[in-house]
Amino acid sequence: MVFIAADKSDNSRPHELYIPIRRGQLLCQKGRSWLPLAANSIPTPDPLHRHYLGALNGEHCYALFFNDEKDFTVPEAYEWVPLRSQLGKISSELFQLAGRALQITKWYRDHQYCGVCGSPTRESESDRACVCSQCESRFYPRISPCVIGLVRRGNECLLARGVRHPEGMYSTLAGFIEPGESAEEAFAREVREEVGVEINNIRYFTSQPWPFPGQLMLAFTADYVSGDLQPDMVEIMDAQWFTADKMPLTPPRLTISGWLIDHFLQQMREKT
Ligand SMILES: [Zn+2]
Repeated sequence: MVFIAADKSDNSRPHELYIPIRRGQLLCQKGRSWLPLAANSIPTPDPLHRHYLGALNGEHCYALFFNDEKDFTVPEAYEWVPLRSQLGKISSELFQLAGRALQITKWYRDHQYCGVCGSPTRESESDRACVCSQCESRFYPRISPCVIGLVRRGNECLLARGVRHPEGMYSTLAGFIEPGESAEEAFAREVREEVGVEINNIRYFTSQPWPFPGQLMLAFTADYVSGDLQPDMVEIMDAQWFTADKMPLTPPRLTISGWLIDHFLQQMREKT
């Protein structure tokens, strides 16, 4: 973790950075990759709200939330960009910071009114929650845990082409955890449902926040047990076993799928 939640009362570090956000997009200087802005270079009116995010290299970072409806123009040198457009252009720490800002402003936007009684909410003073002014229901930022993993069969790995993947690209299998399921159970179920294969030896690999809009990807590796590959033809259009010397087009290293595939390739190199 590179940026950390720091003590806001620490006045020895006066520098602050701002991340203006409107309609789920980041304010960015045209022709450049995205960066948080210094206080004296914010080309916007006052935001509806600001949210503290933590400190990046000693500088306190704030998300500035602008109402979706309120129209204003930014100077010619700036534009609003989706975070996806910055994939591969900015460092992983900046990606994580921007993702955190987007998730927190989305939570704030989506919980201005209570989902139980419909009354306006207020922001809690003690923690990151919107609290109903009438019934005291509390609404926290929503994080959706997902499982993703690479299944091995000897020297082969299982990769699949999802309906949303570009033609020719194969990736690891993934899916949302359902209520009452462990992460391992969810991964075994996803593999069974999507390609009809049974697995065991499910081992935790790593995790990655994926702010589109609020997933936490929990990655696993596993071993093949039984079954013939049968893509469900709903989520998965094709699935195959690949050896390290005959890999298809795969996702980039900055995605957790890319890490898993890299790890498999490294294991194969070490074997030879
Ligand atoms: Zn309420």
